[in-house]
Amino acid sequence: MSSLLTALENKKVLISDGAWGTFLHQRGLEPGECPELWNSTHRGEVYAIAKSYIDAGADVILTNSFGGSPTKLKHYGLQDRTAELNEAAASISREAAGADHLVLGSIGPTGVMLMMGEISEETLYEGFSLQAEALKKGGVDAICVETMSALDEACLAVRASREATGLEVACTFTFEKTVNGEFRTMMGVSPAEMVRAIKEAGASVIGTNCGNGFDQMIDIVHEIRSVDPITPILVHANAGKPLFQNGATVFPETPEMMAAKVQELVKSGANIIGGCCGTTPAHIRQLVRALRVC
Ligand SMILES: [Zn+2]
Repeated sequence: MSSLLTALENKKVLISDGAWGTFLHQRGLEPGECPELWNSTHRGEVYAIAKSYIDAGADVILTNSFGGSPTKLKHYGLQDRTAELNEAAASISREAAGADHLVLGSIGPTGVMLMMGEISEETLYEGFSLQAEALKKGGVDAICVETMSALDEACLAVRASREATGLEVACTFTFEKTVNGEFRTMMGVSPAEMVRAIKEAGASVIGTNCGNGFDQMIDIVHEIRSVDPITPILVHANAGKPLFQNGATVFPETPEMMAAKVQELVKSGANIIGGCCGTTPAHIRQLVRALRVC
């Protein structure tokens, strides 16, 4: 098992994978179906997604476990299978990545709010611990707590992951530009506030995912770098801002459009770069190509 930080020392920039959710739907996941259950029922389909990103040239891939917390799995009556489904997610990505690529175990938000008293800190902590432990058992190299918007939940997830596994933990938040032109999460957290809190909780890689295309990600990375010049930054950008065309959501940025901006993202201070909603193996392949020449 190799370390994410060591890999970053050896290679200035690591390329990560692209979207999973939209990809699963393309492969037949029905709306209302549990994506993580596919780690058990459609192992081959999940493997094909992981492998397609490795084949596209990604150095790092994630796992199909974004909604794998017991709180999320409970919506499908699957909370008792938390350990099994997360371990399976990790082992599928591990198999696709082999020994020479890195696997980050994805942990997403639970959808319940601590500050509203919807769940206790203990329950939330135990859930994240269980998920992280199972991801480690399945073979991940590090954990990626992602798409966060609340500081309390993110910090708890980072701490639980660290304490349950001893692995390095990356943590990324999703920001939106407010009417005042400032970046804030849905819960009102600024990039600077995020940096302070998640580093204190034990994150060794920080960053941002979803919600924005490369243009705004560049601005967010500048903002993070203004308060933290050192900590590695992970960016998973959407293929631009979604547009609604003929009743469907369309992500406008082509692989070439994203690749044209990747060097600027690197210059702004990003160290691990991949895609979120709307990105495909074709996007990742173009990013790899664009970075190889820089
Ligand atoms: Zn996304």
